[in-house]
Amino acid sequence: MENKNVKESLNPFEIAQRQVKTACDKLGADPAVYEILKTPARVIEVSFPVRLDNGTIKTFTGFRSQHNNACGPFKGGLRFHPGVTYDEVKALSTWMTFKCSVTGVPYGGGKGGLAIDPKDYSEGELERISRGFAKALAPFIGEKVDIPAPDVNTNGKIMAWMVDEIEKSTGQFQPGVLTGKPVDFFGSLARTEATGYGVAIMARAAASKKGMNLNTATVAVQGFGNVGSFAAKYITEMGAKVVAISDSSCTLVNKDGLDIPAAIAYAAENGSIKGFAGAEELHRDALLTQEVDILMPCALENVITSANADDIKAKIISEGANGPTTPEADEILFNKGVLVIPDILANAGGVTVSYFEWVQNLMRYNWSFEEVQSKQDVLMDKAFEDIWTLMGEHSVDMRTAAYMMSIKRIAVAMKYRGWY
Ligand code: GLU
Repeated sequence: MENKNVKESLNPFEIAQRQVKTACDKLGADPAVYEILKTPARVIEVSFPVRLDNGTIKTFTGFRSQHNNACGPFKGGLRFHPGVTYDEVKALSTWMTFKCSVTGVPYGGGKGGLAIDPKDYSEGELERISRGFAKALAPFIGEKVDIPAPDVNTNGKIMAWMVDEIEKSTGQFQPGVLTGKPVDFFGSLARTEATGYGVAIMARAAASKKGMNLNTATVAVQGFGNVGSFAAKYITEMGAKVVAISDSSCTLVNKDGLDIPAAIAYAAENGSIKGFAGAEELHRDALLTQEVDILMPCALENVITSANADDIKAKIISEGANGPTTPEADEILFNKGVLVIPDILANAGGVTVSYFEWVQNLMRYNWSFEEVQSKQDVLMDKAFEDIWTLMGEHSVDMRTAAYMMSIKRIAVAMKYRGWY
């Protein structure tokens, strides 16, 4: 989000480093721990040619950042978005390391992306771009090396093309090389829903700690892609009323509550929520400052900054996006008594169920929807409780507590490995 009133640095990698440093300091960790964690182990830049529909060749450049693999193979999504940069993937891979460790799934952190808008390409071009990217990354990823997944603007269909391409490159059947695949192509039930479901169950856990009754609570959801739409659906099923949603086109508000399943169907058909009946239409930026109890930023990074944190009215924020809040905004919100459930916990549902998918792939198992979701519930609720306790013990915000818990685990693994 462009905003001239923002004074702080919006470089996501600098922000990620500051968050890690704050938690290392609070923990009193050996200085070597921050020294290792402050930078990714490897960042791969690949360029590959793709034939476009008009017959010309275009070279695409993509990145894969592999931050840390002390606790297991690198893990994290691949995004297709014009805002993808070298520093952005480095930051996102750093956040993945701590996200995996928060719920204790046996992975390190990775992230990659291509700076493209998929809407600019035909289906055939998108397939060739996805295959080209997968082929270029094939020497650096693998079921036991680095396991990508969907992220912003990527999905199961793209994962399936990539699995096929990697199998061609390596000559090996390895469906677990990527997660977030279609359910009938080595995917897992409940994976598509997982990130949004997690955002909702973390908001529910926070509401119960704050003594907030979900049946009378109101919610605003920023972003109506895979994360925001499922977060809205599940929090509605848990009893809350979603009164505002937004996407890149607009904000929709209805004080009596929006019909979320109808909005999801409308967005699937029209490519956006714009024009959905039964709601007042406002500018997309109006969402964050709505008069609600719970706010779910489920779009992109740096949307809550020093320029708007004071105007936020919600008492609980469940971060579906990665990096939506700057450190300066965190401080303002903390001082106002707003409980921010940090991204590395609130949106950990996606990678948690990716882990279940990977286990099913490696073992050739097929688990039911209920089995997967109940496993997700258990892991995330336990992580919430543990972080809540740590937060109280150290009088820090929940983000710092979440990092502290993660860093402890990673530091132990790095110690055993003899990295320091
Ligand atoms: N892209 C998702 C995230 O940011 C999921 C990553 C994964 O499943 O590996 O957490």
